[in-house]
Amino acid sequence: MNNIKDYNLEELKQELISIGEKPFRAEQIFKWIYQDNVTSFDEMTNLSLELREKLKQNYSLCIFNILRKQESSDGTIKYLFDVLDGNAIETVLMKYHHGYSLCVSTQIGCKMGCKFCASTGIAFARNLTSGEIVEELLAVERDQNIKISNVVYMGIGEPLDNYDNVVNSIRIINNPKGINIGARHISVSTSGLVPNIYRLAEENIQCTLSISLHATNNEKRSSMMPVNNRYPIEELIKACKDYIAKTNRRISFEYALAKDNNDNLEDAKGLVKLLKGMLCHVNLIPINKIENGAFDKSSNENIIKFRDYLNEHGIVATIRRELGSDIDAACGQLRRKNL
Ligand code: SAH
Repeated sequence: MNNIKDYNLEELKQELISIGEKPFRAEQIFKWIYQDNVTSFDEMTNLSLELREKLKQNYSLCIFNILRKQESSDGTIKYLFDVLDGNAIETVLMKYHHGYSLCVSTQIGCKMGCKFCASTGIAFARNLTSGEIVEELLAVERDQNIKISNVVYMGIGEPLDNYDNVVNSIRIINNPKGINIGARHISVSTSGLVPNIYRLAEENIQCTLSISLHATNNEKRSSMMPVNNRYPIEELIKACKDYIAKTNRRISFEYALAKDNNDNLEDAKGLVKLLKGMLCHVNLIPINKIENGAFDKSSNENIIKFRDYLNEHGIVATIRRELGSDIDAACGQLRRKNL
C-alpha cells in the first residue's frame, strides 16, 4: 500500500484527482497529517466517511513504532524506530535554548565508507522514502508533544545519495501547509556528491548546505573518505562556489578533528587557503572515537588553538557542542540496526 506521506502537496492533489476527488481535499489531508499529526484516517472528520474509507483502502499513514528511547544526561533523546519492514533506524532529538532540533536518517545503512563513522561497515539495506523521513519527525513530535524547529539531515546515510526522496521530504517539511519549518532551519549534510550539489543549487530551496570536509588535501581526505577518489577537493569546492553563487546562502563546512591526523597548524593553514573569501562557516567537531576506529579525539587545547587560528585568519569557525555521546547519539555514532 502506498504511504500517503510520500506525496508532496502537488502530487497529493494529482493523486486525489486520479481517484475522482477534488484537489482541495489534499490541503485538508495535509493539515490533518502534518499539523494535527493524526494517526488514523478516521480522525479526518471534515472528509466524508466515503472518502475516509477510500483513503484507508488505498494508502497507509506509515506510523512508526518506537522500539527504544534513550535519554542522555544532557537531555538529548535517541529513538530507534521500527520502519515496518524488519529494519530499524535511529533519529536524535536535541534540545537547545532556541528550540528542538531533530537529526534525521535518510538511508538504512550507508554506502560512503568514511573511515571514522560508525554508520560504515554494516551493509546498506535501502533508501528511506520521503514519507519515512518525514515520519521520523512526526513520530518524535507525537511522542514528546512538541513542535520541532530545526531539522538536520545528519543521521545515518548520505542524503545526496537518496536525492529525490530527500528533496521531496524537504518540500513537505518546508511547505507552510505541511510541517512549515523555514528552509533556513533545515540543513542538509553531504560527504560531497558533487553532481547532486549542482542539482540542489537549482531546486530553489533555501536550505543550508553542510559539507563534510575533514581534510584539505586529496591524499588525506581520500584516506578518510573514499568518496574523495571520485570527487576530489577541487571539484567539491567548485561545486560549493556554484551553490553559493546560485543560492546566496552560506555553506557550512564540517571538520572533525582527529589527533595527529588533521589537527595541526599545517591543516589549519590549508583550510584558510582553501576557504578564503568564500561565504562560509567552519564547524569544528571533536571526533568521536568509534569501536575499532583508527582516529582519536584531538585535545581540547588543540581544538581551541585550531579554531582561533581560523578566526584570526578570516575564517569564521565554531566548535560544535557535543550532545548525546553517553548514549552513542553524537556525530558518527549512529549505526544501522536490525530487528
Ligand atoms: N553522509 C552525510 C551525513 C552524515 S552527517 C555526511 O557525510 O555529511 C554526520 C556528520 O558527522 C558528518 O559531517 C560526518 O562526517 C560527521 N561524523 C561522522 N563520523 C564522525 C565521528 N566519529 N566523529 C565526529 N563526526 C563524525
